[in-house]
Amino acid sequence: MAKEETDCVFCKIAKGEIPSDKVYEDNDTFAFLDINPINPGHTLVIPKKHFNNMLDTPPEIFSKVMLIVQRLSKPIIKVTKADGLGIGINNGEAAGQVVNHLHVHIMPRFKDDGYKSWERTDSIPKQDMKAIAEKISKEL
Ligand code: AMP
Ligand code: ZN
Repeated sequence: MAKEETDCVFCKIAKGEIPSDKVYEDNDTFAFLDINPINPGHTLVIPKKHFNNMLDTPPEIFSKVMLIVQRLSKPIIKVTKADGLGIGINNGEAAGQVVNHLHVHIMPRFKDDGYKSWERTDSIPKQDMKAIAEKISKEL
């Protein structure tokens, strides 16, 4: 077994080897409260099998995870009385990923909760924007 799987905190949570505040479980997925939530009800949804992040997760597993994200969203809003819900996946250290086992954040948001959205830029020249869009399209 790869080292990251034996040492992985989320693999251990999925197996019940580390305690968590479980929200949901089925054959393929597991959902539990984030230990350091941005707001009450901040939930993480993971595949039980270890994948580092979205980029190496097979589409059939990823879609199962995302269906659970959607299924949990309304109950989380209802229970927390959130005004909105952020969904996030950090892929790679540069994107803020700390735990290298795919996880989707479901983050209840409240008006005036003080969190900022991403910083935006309008400094990329129009021709560069067009070139990037075309290059991405060609890779598909
Ligand atoms: P990320 O930065 O996307 O890798 O997020 C990792 C998240 O996992 C953080 O929000 C942590 O608070 C959360 N986390 C780390 N360890 C645990 C744990 N044992 N139980 C619940 N959440 C955890
Ligand atoms: Zn893992």
